[in-house]
Amino acid sequence: MRTLLTAALMLALPAAALADEAPKKAVTPQLIIHGGAGVAPGDLSAEEERGARAALQEALLRGQAILKAGKSAQEAVVAAIVVLEDSPYFNAGRGAVFTHEGRNELDASLMLGNGQRAGAVAGVRRVKNPITLAQAVMEQSPHVMLTGQGAETFAKEKGLPLVEPDWFRTEKRWQQLQRRLAEEAGKQAARSDEAEYRRYVGTVGAVAIDAQGHLAAGTSTGGMTNKRWNRVGDSPVIGAGTWADSRCAVSGTGWGEFYIRSAAAHNICARVAHRGESAAQAGGKVINEEIVALGGDGGALVMTADGGYAFPFNTPGMYRGWVSVDGTPQVAIYASETLQGDVKTAAHKVAGGDAPAH
Ligand code: ASP
Repeated sequence: MRTLLTAALMLALPAAALADEAPKKAVTPQLIIHGGAGVAPGDLSAEEERGARAALQEALLRGQAILKAGKSAQEAVVAAIVVLEDSPYFNAGRGAVFTHEGRNELDASLMLGNGQRAGAVAGVRRVKNPITLAQAVMEQSPHVMLTGQGAETFAKEKGLPLVEPDWFRTEKRWQQLQRRLAEEAGKQAARSDEAEYRRYVGTVGAVAIDAQGHLAAGTSTGGMTNKRWNRVGDSPVIGAGTWADSRCAVSGTGWGEFYIRSAAAHNICARVAHRGESAAQAGGKVINEEIVALGGDGGALVMTADGGYAFPFNTPGMYRGWVSVDGTPQVAIYASETLQGDVKTAAHKVAGGDAPAH
């Protein structure tokens, strides 16, 4: 009788509740990061490539130290992203791309799988590390998303470091804008929008799982070169550029409009939850099939609560890296390199297949 009653009760419970109550299997804490999709062989000078690889390595080590100390996935994600925001080699924080008007407008978001808490900011111009502002929005405000001037007032009230807008400026990004403006003025239509987008990438992101089995995801970006009208991409949009729940976490990088239109980050985790897909299956489907079918491109980090992870991407390269609590950091840039977890596409044979091996 008792068994029957238990069975009846179990049937009445939604599957999600049962899954959440199941004791979590111990997983090895680990961290995956990206520094943006779209980089292609030949884009970087030797110095830039060395600098980018060193920054990815440092971000992984910073996050690893946090996980080693038994701290949370949230802390590891934020620490790794701060390193990448401070590096001039990525389109986030220092080194962000310029808007049409010659400004840097920064977007970031953070989400925790445990309780699905989230914080996001868009269009900030003076906050040194936008990811820490997203964290403050999540922890210290009743809201999820703040924008522009109001977000900066909040940052000031919370004592976050503010810098002069010049702090974000790098000559390379400035010249990219000048070239783009000249092309526009000369109506040089030779470059497709897609090629254009690829030249100005480098959003950063991180996803981690901690010793408690909790997931976290964060993303930070300067958006797209020559963006106008206070354009906001997917990176600060919860469900588009960033998502975390109890089973899955994602940070995206790519042509943001398409990530918003396909609710990419949430879409991936919905496939994990409802179809039982792996990180590689769900990430490959959304990033390399759905987004491509819509006309977009890019990549993502995907991690599941069982410790599975994937780097789906369909561009000639994606700055990416992995480390576990006790592992050696692994870093890759181009599609011609292989990192465990890579989910590549047939397009790589054309776009990245001829790239030099590193
Ligand atoms: N997703 C970013 C945006 O559209 C850009 C990127 O990831 O490169 O703002």
